[in-house]
Amino acid sequence: DVFYRELPKVELHAHLNGSVSSQTIEKLISRKPHLDIEHDMTVIGKGQRRTLDECFQVFKIIHQLVDTEEDILMVATDVIREFAADGVKYLELRSTPREDKSTGLTKKRYIETVIKAIQQSKNDGLDIDVRFLVAIDRRNGTEVAVETVKLAEEFMLHSDGLVVGLDLSGDPRVGHGKDLLPALQRAKNCGLKLSLHLSEVASQLEETDLLLDLPPDRIGHGTFLHPQVGGSQRLVDKVLKNNIPLELCLTSNIKGQTVPCYAEHHFKYWYLLQHPSVICTDDKGVFSTDLSQEYQLAASTFGLSREAVWTLSQQAIDCIFAPDDVKQQLRQKWIDLKPQVF
Ligand code: IMP
Repeated sequence: DVFYRELPKVELHAHLNGSVSSQTIEKLISRKPHLDIEHDMTVIGKGQRRTLDECFQVFKIIHQLVDTEEDILMVATDVIREFAADGVKYLELRSTPREDKSTGLTKKRYIETVIKAIQQSKNDGLDIDVRFLVAIDRRNGTEVAVETVKLAEEFMLHSDGLVVGLDLSGDPRVGHGKDLLPALQRAKNCGLKLSLHLSEVASQLEETDLLLDLPPDRIGHGTFLHPQVGGSQRLVDKVLKNNIPLELCLTSNIKGQTVPCYAEHHFKYWYLLQHPSVICTDDKGVFSTDLSQEYQLAASTFGLSREAVWTLSQQAIDCIFAPDDVKQQLRQKWIDLKPQVF
């Protein structure tokens, strides 16, 4: 539907290597034929589902395909172009810096390369404002988390405002938030914004309770926060009290099987509370979706009018990590575009 494509959108939850499109995967595969990777190993198609375990296997395969500066530059450049073509006007990309001894890739160069792609997209005149969140993979433990925060801090000071925050992600069943708390606290103290994957699976009540006290600036997924799915009113109250926006990724949660069907997605719970919630893609490549489609799915599942969808995309501006002048510019853009879209 052309309305959803033309709708100006804000994307706040997009993992770089999960966002790689089919076309880019083809290019990567042809660069590395010796890996013997086939295209259907990196994407979960329509109607297909995987366990969360299998989803994380997919990321491992993509990481094998993306292990040089050239790969990262191509992937980031393509992903930014694709979001722009889908009508995304403001994008926060997140990615876990990796090093690779065999290709000479370092974590610092990794981040610099993503920043280079963002700067090039600006120079090319794309109508999209892109920022970067440095990601911590929870699996890697305390030391790596601290090291990652230090890197993010450095880049926050020297990237012309492009590095705005920190993401905590990775397999939710591995590791515990209490080991990462000092690193996250440090990040917060130095002015990095925090977006944390919280309660993505049901077994994280204690961890979520602990991490909500930081408090984070946004929550990824938050699937099992509310009492109806085994969360608790106490957790919900903490989220409400601090007015922490949620990043909600419908297709990702269905395909990863943490939510049984679209109609039961927790979007509904938070939408009825009128709590700030932002529709996002998570991994548009792996889950074979895009942001227009996610808005359309939310609208058709929960019976949202076009006016309500517009308001939803507009309110996402309040949740971005870039400073107020950027928010103002975006609000003006939405006003300017409205007559064209309706
Ligand atoms: P990258 O950080 O750009 O390499 O993107 C892939 C990584 O994002 C994965 O290895 C995970 O650490 C993280 N990720 C992607 N999707 C999810 C999710 O649904 N839950 C938790 N972590 C995720």
